Amino acid sequence: MVIPDAASHRSRHEAIVNAIERALYGIDDRLVRFHRSAVSKVRPDDDLIHLGSHGGSEFGAWYEERKENPPLDQPAFETLVALHEALLNHLALLAERAWKSEKVPIEEYDALLEKVKAFQEQAHRMAKAFQAAISDIDPLTGAQTRQVMQRDLKREVVRGRRSGSPACIALADIDHFKAINDTFGHGVGDQVLAAVSTELIDNLRPYDSVYRYGGEEFLICLPDTGPEEARRVLDRVRARIAKETFTSDDGREVKLTVSFGLTLLNPRRPIPEIIERADKALYVAKEAGRNRVEVWRAEKSAGGG
Ligand code: GH3
Ligand code: MG
Ligand code: MG
Repeated sequence: MVIPDAASHRSRHEAIVNAIERALYGIDDRLVRFHRSAVSKVRPDDDLIHLGSHGGSEFGAWYEERKENPPLDQPAFETLVALHEALLNHLALLAERAWKSEKVPIEEYDALLEKVKAFQEQAHRMAKAFQAAISDIDPLTGAQTRQVMQRDLKREVVRGRRSGSPACIALADIDHFKAINDTFGHGVGDQVLAAVSTELIDNLRPYDSVYRYGGEEFLICLPDTGPEEARRVLDRVRARIAKETFTSDDGREVKLTVSFGLTLLNPRRPIPEIIERADKALYVAKEAGRNRVEVWRAEKSAGGG
């Protein structure tokens, strides 16, 4: 695979926040130009009085290009876009009438302000939500942060206690990553790290979660999954990564493998202890030759109990 833009997940979110902020700025700018032309009775700019100007607006064009793809295929975006369109159409009508010295009834003007407010509120709400999602994502790898992991694991434990259905966690650690840095440089190392993270995120199941646990280690949570199935799921991703050739943006080809330590998320044990079990299983996987998935076993893991 060609290594994706590092942190492509995060930058996708950043692009959305940016587009929403620019749309807000675009509305402010149009309102100023509308008031200027209405007060001084000068001809409004074409883009102001052109009905259907939403389609020609920066925001309209941006959305049109991406609306089929997640996360823009959500109803919240449809709402935002509908508000934007209605606002620009209303503005176009009033701009035309105000310029031509027609008296614009106060109700019409108030209705415009209502539309401005509705758009701004929805836009701010959405920008805030995407901003919050950004801070939950590790900037280099696009995996979720440790903070989110702590919160999610606690929830998973509570859920396990209540439902009685099993869940598993695994630690994934890139094999001989130090050698990759030493051979190709830290920059390529960073790119490869992001690529491995993307492989994990994209090839596990949609309800599995990937967190950046440490340098080149990821913690994976597999809800509603027993150890047998978890092992199959992880082994599939492991094999996939082992087959892959990663190509850095300066054309260097990197092969690598990942080791996994897997354990049941036992809801009766403290979370740090469960992570330690996964770490012990990972250690066993490394000792046994790497590029494999090991399940924690009390007797097999040094010091396990
Ligand atoms: P093992 O198979 O036993 O895991 O060997 P390893 O070389 O992967 O393990 P070791 O823990 O000795 O080295 C991990 C290396 O990962 C050392 C560190 O410099 C590198 N590393 C950690 N975080 C990052 C990062 O964000 N970017 C890059 N480029 N390297 C990182
Ligand atoms: Mg490590
Ligand atoms: Mg390693």
